[in-house]
Amino acid sequence: MDNIDLINKAIEASKNAYTPYSHFNVGAAILTKSGKVFTGCNVECSSYGISLCAERTALVKAVSEGCKDFEKIAVVGGTNDEFVYTTPCGACRQFLADFNQNMDVIMGFLDKGELQHKDMMLKELLPETFEL
Ligand SMILES: [Zn+2]
Repeated sequence: MDNIDLINKAIEASKNAYTPYSHFNVGAAILTKSGKVFTGCNVECSSYGISLCAERTALVKAVSEGCKDFEKIAVVGGTNDEFVYTTPCGACRQFLADFNQNMDVIMGFLDKGELQHKDMMLKELLPETFEL
């Protein structure tokens, strides 16, 4: 699956975001090494600190279905389908790194209405990852 296809799955997932407080919808799509895709959206809570990010939603869905080998993840974020350059938060970076520090992170955004993406390896986004 190419990066644009994965971004489009993240965009679809962002439509399910529950964001009554920030109105900033995030979608994620994580690709396993066996070719399966799991998607997630952010889910906010009135107790803000326990809100859940799209990336962790997607990853937890995959793990709960028995998948733990990840190749890459696409992330999009924005309001009213105006996707801006959005990177995973620190908590999500660590969560993802526990599974594969070499995972590609594809960050999709719209530039003058055209879908673009910036790709980085997770260990670039989170050097010196915490390890037990
Ligand atoms: Zn996060």
